[in-house]
Amino acid sequence: MSIKLAETAGFCMGVRRAVDMVLELAQHKGRKTIYTYGPLIHNPQTVELLKGRGIIPVAHLEEIPPGEAGFTIIIRAHGISPQERRSLKEKGLKIIDATCPKVGRVQAIIKKHAVQDFTILIIGDAQHPEVNGLLGYAYGKGLVINHPADVPHLPALDKVCVVAQTTQSVDEYQHIVDEIRKRYPDAVIFDTICDSTEKRQTEVKSLAEEMDAMIIVGGKNSANTQRLAALSELQGAPTFYVETANDLVAEKLKTFKKIGVSAGASTPNWIIDRVVDNVTTQQTEHAPKIKYLFKLWIWMVRTDLYSAVGAGCLAVASMFLQRLEIQPLYVLITALYVYAMHTLNRFINRQTGSIIGSFREDSYRRHEKTYIRTAVLSLIIALGAGFFSGPVPFLFLLIMSTLGILYNTKLLPAGWRFRSVKDLPGSKNVSMAFAWAAIAAVLPPLAEELTLTAATGVSFAFIFGIVFIRSALSDILDIQSDKLIGRETIPVLIGKTHTQNLLHLASLMLLLLLVAAFPLGWTTSASFFLIPPVIYIWICFQVCDRKPGLIGVVMEGILETAYIIAGLSTWIWFLISRGTWA
Ligand code: SF4
Repeated sequence: MSIKLAETAGFCMGVRRAVDMVLELAQHKGRKTIYTYGPLIHNPQTVELLKGRGIIPVAHLEEIPPGEAGFTIIIRAHGISPQERRSLKEKGLKIIDATCPKVGRVQAIIKKHAVQDFTILIIGDAQHPEVNGLLGYAYGKGLVINHPADVPHLPALDKVCVVAQTTQSVDEYQHIVDEIRKRYPDAVIFDTICDSTEKRQTEVKSLAEEMDAMIIVGGKNSANTQRLAALSELQGAPTFYVETANDLVAEKLKTFKKIGVSAGASTPNWIIDRVVDNVTTQQTEHAPKIKYLFKLWIWMVRTDLYSAVGAGCLAVASMFLQRLEIQPLYVLITALYVYAMHTLNRFINRQTGSIIGSFREDSYRRHEKTYIRTAVLSLIIALGAGFFSGPVPFLFLLIMSTLGILYNTKLLPAGWRFRSVKDLPGSKNVSMAFAWAAIAAVLPPLAEELTLTAATGVSFAFIFGIVFIRSALSDILDIQSDKLIGRETIPVLIGKTHTQNLLHLASLMLLLLLVAAFPLGWTTSASFFLIPPVIYIWICFQVCDRKPGLIGVVMEGILETAYIIAGLSTWIWFLISRGTWA
């Protein structure tokens, strides 16, 4: 089975702009609630995520509780009528206008022609909020038509101006316009269908002709997604219209060899990813040779076991760098600590949506108790192992575990801007890198010799750097997937381009450190063998930049493989040098 994802699938410019505006507002709103006039976009999953950030949709102003005078209300991408805008102003509300500029252009055309006494014919769905808003600009001289058969029923008109809802079906629009031209030869016609809609529909038509079946992803309340599904069916392709991956029925897809996937303008990439992920997983069922290996790898990435193995590999690399005998106990402690912290923090942080939308969501929801129990048990075993290593490593591990748990915990009372460490901008990437580096690089020499050397510093810097780069790259991918991540991440704090520059600089500094560390006598020559994971990270930069269409869990696994390469590479160094610590 092969899957082809439409290039035009996902957020259009107007929706992305509206979501970005709202997220920017959410970051600075403090404890205030922000309201949107109707759901911000026609995607229930994104609306739910936004609710978690205090962005509440209201259909009527009466829904807003009393005592919220002066609150902010956001006009969504569809826009509203001038009459509605006036009543919002009269209520003294602070209005943030996220109306898509392309919708704004249609409103301006209608307004201009309405004052010149034209009758405005709007081709679109009378129930759609965009059409409702457009109608308001016609000041009582607007009529909505939805079908060629409506045209003969129109009254005799002198001056006619025609516009279309921006997400109207191109073919349907053309049929209606043909009828209008016959009836009103002097009509002034504006093709106001958005180019993003046109491209999306054209691609769906050609994909539907090429593929055996089509999956159209998007909210059931999204008119443009409904049109895509209808278009695909019109081409004769069996079409599955799904809101999320959970709506897919594996049995029904089995018989198709080539499946095309497209999505509406308000469908975030993470939902599309999960649909593709789901179909890809079914694909491996029919490829027995790679089936078990690939599934095992995906399962390990999904459950954070791959991270834990990676952390163990970094502990091995660190011990080799520091001329320490490899102690499996420290490798185990590092792996268990990392596993426990990642899992527990995800559950503590779930209210703010750290799990929702991620490829881990299904698994975490279905096996919540198992995850929590396994994470707590891992932490207890790690602490127990630390206890048997001596009082200093135990104390160190206890402090690190407490700090790890406190990361998401609200420490200050409500009203404070930064109530937990997590609230500090950029804290996630820095604290994660610090915790990994502290356990993998500092714990072994503390336990063995109670001293820290220059080699400890180099190990710490290497692990901090590589974990920081991986974590920030993963956040960049999340942004590309339209996940609603927050200011605790570097890319949201300083922007994608600055983050990429920072990561390039960090990897260059890592490279210089690794090249200089052995000649300067700081570490063993294992430092040279840590250059491959840094080069691998550079390859990951390129892969992430090109957005290769790989599903989230695969990209995460590819990034985490940098740790495994570090462990394997230094192990090869050990086999070559045979303990001479050359
Ligand atoms: S479909 Fe086009 S007009 Fe409508 S919100 Fe998106 S970019 Fe704007």
